Amino acid sequence: MVVSTELSTFEEVNIFFDQAADHLDMDEGVRKLLRRPWRELQVSVPVRMDDGRIEVFNGFRIQHNGVRGPYKGGTRYHPMADLEEIKALASLMTWKNALVDIPFGGAKGGVQCDPRDMSEDELNRLTRRYTINIEHLLGVNRDIPAPDLGTNSQVMAWMMDAYGQIHGYTPGIVTGKPVELGGSAGRSSATGRGVVFVMREVARQLGMNVEGARIVVQGFGQVGSWTVRILGEMGCNVIAVSDVLGGVYREKGIDVEKLMQHKERAGTVVGFADADLIRNEDLLELDCEFLIPAAIDRVITEDNAPRVKARVVVEAANHPLTPGADEILNDRGIPIIPDILANAGGVVVSYFEWVQNLYQRQWEEERVNEELKKIMTKAYQAVQETVDSKNITYREAAFLIGVKRVAHVAKLRGFI
Ligand code: NAD
Repeated sequence: MVVSTELSTFEEVNIFFDQAADHLDMDEGVRKLLRRPWRELQVSVPVRMDDGRIEVFNGFRIQHNGVRGPYKGGTRYHPMADLEEIKALASLMTWKNALVDIPFGGAKGGVQCDPRDMSEDELNRLTRRYTINIEHLLGVNRDIPAPDLGTNSQVMAWMMDAYGQIHGYTPGIVTGKPVELGGSAGRSSATGRGVVFVMREVARQLGMNVEGARIVVQGFGQVGSWTVRILGEMGCNVIAVSDVLGGVYREKGIDVEKLMQHKERAGTVVGFADADLIRNEDLLELDCEFLIPAAIDRVITEDNAPRVKARVVVEAANHPLTPGADEILNDRGIPIIPDILANAGGVVVSYFEWVQNLYQRQWEEERVNEELKKIMTKAYQAVQETVDSKNITYREAAFLIGVKRVAHVAKLRGFI
């Protein structure tokens, strides 16, 4: 039994990497090369706060592996975004980009701050200073940031502007920008769209029906709210949702459209009149067919995994399950659709955005969604075939495919 509470997030993700390396009978030297980040940058980010004080934040950009193409990965603003977490998220990007077979390596960045406590002006100044401090690592063919937890299209617009002040107009330097600045149609909904797409495929495989299922979603930001919205449009039965302030629950199903309107007005799902309050911890243990963690890492651990009652867990967030929780749910026969497959829709459409920026042409949303579906279908089918042929879990299959592709290209390029 893996007891992961003592381990850092990065060490936890490497347990999943090692499972894949074992399946591939990988040489110890190659493992060493692929496990650790290629480059780690830690910077100080001084910001003049609105009250005149100077605050100094920790910033990071981790380039995990770039053998398959330019480094690619989001930018997280969160109080827990430390070096180990960003390294973990960067390595997940390496395996995810390889799994969906887009020509990018894996990276991640972040600043240890609480954006909810900062004004718009403070966030603008923080983003510009952070961008300038990591700018020497970035480049359209080197490293391309995107939004993640705590950041959004506005933050990407500031990053693009700060980079452009040094290098000139460079829309392809970030993805997840506002459409008016060269962002892609369909980028904001892409991760949620991918989550729902994979859910439907897996449901079909398991003889389940998404439309009739009870669905629980933790997190109501970019990923969670779009997932809920798309499920709502399909007429699905979303019975509980939450954000950082708490959750709402209605056994007969929540009116998603009304909930979106409430969130728009109140800035949170809490206080929604047509449902009961529920704590985030209890929401994870609700009786349902699909549980979709779409907020932060490590919310399902060895402690609460035995009480999870979902029939399937879909990892819309990155690393929401510790390896110990993963093992408990596997033993209980609960399938887990891993992050590197379930939430890959975001980086796939980021790839389309980068392509559109390279030749300065915007695609229609219809084309974006069609191409997204093609790539997600191919990745899902590869995972399902590996699950069936090797009799392993979805996570093991997804990591096996991603890790194998990266190792192969590392060899072709002469790294090993
Ligand atoms: P976001 O900042 O837009 O939204 C995060 C949501 O989670 C908010 O509703 C917030 O209130 C809630 N939340 C924060 N802390 C919480 C807590 N302790 N308990 C319950 N809810 C909490 O972030 P996002 O972009 O939606 O990212 C969510 C997850 O999805 C992250 O793990 C991220 O890495 C992953 N992800 C995001 C994208 C993307 O395109 N944005 C792509 C792939 C994966």
